Amino acid sequence: MTRRSDWASHDHAAVAENARAERGTWLMAGVYGTKGSAASAAKKAPMAQDMPAYAPAGSFEAYAVMHPDGWALWVRYVAGDEPVPELPERMTVRVCDWLSDEEADGVGVVTVTVAARCSTCGGPRGHDTLAAQEFTDGGVEFTVDRWTNPCGHLDTYDAILHEARFRPLPEPSSGPAGLVLEDVPEPPAPDSPAGVVLAAADAWRGMRAKAAIEVLDKHGFAEDADRVALMLRKARTHGHISARQIAHWLHVGGDA
Ligand SMILES: [Zn+2]
Repeated sequence: MTRRSDWASHDHAAVAENARAERGTWLMAGVYGTKGSAASAAKKAPMAQDMPAYAPAGSFEAYAVMHPDGWALWVRYVAGDEPVPELPERMTVRVCDWLSDEEADGVGVVTVTVAARCSTCGGPRGHDTLAAQEFTDGGVEFTVDRWTNPCGHLDTYDAILHEARFRPLPEPSSGPAGLVLEDVPEPPAPDSPAGVVLAAADAWRGMRAKAAIEVLDKHGFAEDADRVALMLRKARTHGHISARQIAHWLHVGGDA
């Protein structure tokens, strides 16, 4: 992996100039080796503190976000009288889920909330391009959402479902200035309770939550099996809970 060095290699003057020419448009200002240095830049840029390219203070917004090469700093020029559109931190979308339908072969639609930042480059997702799309499968009508990311990276429904399970949502903050999105956690270890359920769900299309209990028992995770059983008894709609959701619940330390 290439690690671009901090600070010196970032041409903030050029980025700021381009951003001024495209008021309201987010531009990547650089990739930092550590979360700390990117977060620091995201706090300093809006105040033009140690970063004169973004002067005067208050004319730029900034955020830091995880990037394949480290942590990216994104900025946009906002000075002026007309308000710029808010950048939401989260986006709620309807996506196809081929795996969690009640019947093993059919399509389902699930509503998930994900970060409003591209998982590849950290740029804003096309939250303002969201459009409903209807389609028919087996005589049943479904509605899903489509959108286009300004960065050009494509969000597949499978990737969005995966992200909804494993990428934590950013905490709501008072504004985008200085916002830092959290790291993407590792998927569960294959020999962990969440890992064995996820592996079983990958092998068995349409696996339901109840079947996860047997899988946990079979792998010697009796205590986790009991916790899942208790949670399902409490949940009123457990018929709609998939084994994948159970894996996610276990992975994030599920509390019944
Ligand atoms: Zn992107």
